[in-house]
Amino acid sequence: MSDIIVVAVDGPAGSGKSSVSKAVAATRGFAYYDTGAAYRALAWAALDAGVDLDSEDAVVAVQDTADYVASQDPAHQVFSVNGTDVTDAIRGENVSGSVSKIARHPRVRAGLVAHFRDVIATCSRPGIVMEGRDITTVVAPDAKVRVLLTASEEVRIARRQAELSGVQAQPVAESLMARDRSDQTVVDFMNAAPGVSVVDSGPLTFDQTVDAMLSLIDNALGGADD
Ligand code: C5P
Repeated sequence: MSDIIVVAVDGPAGSGKSSVSKAVAATRGFAYYDTGAAYRALAWAALDAGVDLDSEDAVVAVQDTADYVASQDPAHQVFSVNGTDVTDAIRGENVSGSVSKIARHPRVRAGLVAHFRDVIATCSRPGIVMEGRDITTVVAPDAKVRVLLTASEEVRIARRQAELSGVQAQPVAESLMARDRSDQTVVDFMNAAPGVSVVDSGPLTFDQTVDAMLSLIDNALGGADD
């Protein structure tokens, strides 16, 4: 693995980890990598191919032929699969409602974990903020900075409802919580592994949460020998 500064961030949906991670990366001039977007892009590709999402073989076959490209610039997030821009499509309810199914398959996860490690190894910036569910524990357990960004379920639902207006908010909040419950059967991202710092964004403003993360990075680097 390269000797860049790796900031590993895990947390549930609605914890604010994407927007906070982007701001942290932009402030430090680091790359930003959204691993959830890779799972979403694969779900999109599997849906597009019309394969059975419960079939690990079928999803792996899609994964093996999918050419996935993701930007690492925190200010400009663009994702494509086989040349098709899927930046907006991977945020749709169709993908959100399906992604946990493909994320359950061990061979799918192994392939993506290898890809994420390669992203870290070939990163051209001085550091990278990589966020997801298993970054602190599986993808980069040796990361210099490891953070679990949490928020209570009430806070996460309220945030998601504020993002969405109108009658669809409640069903969307429910599907978000169902996704978390399903994802938790695969990876524990609600409890910090040993050595992982917990930041509860619930009582903090956005700026305070970013500052808390920046302090963790500064402390880790200040105390580092290399
Ligand atoms: O982060 P986001 O909510 O966009 O992630 C979408 C989905 O990708 C999650 O619900 C989960 O199923 C999967 N995921 C995962 N491991 C990661 C990141 C995402 O299983 N490191």
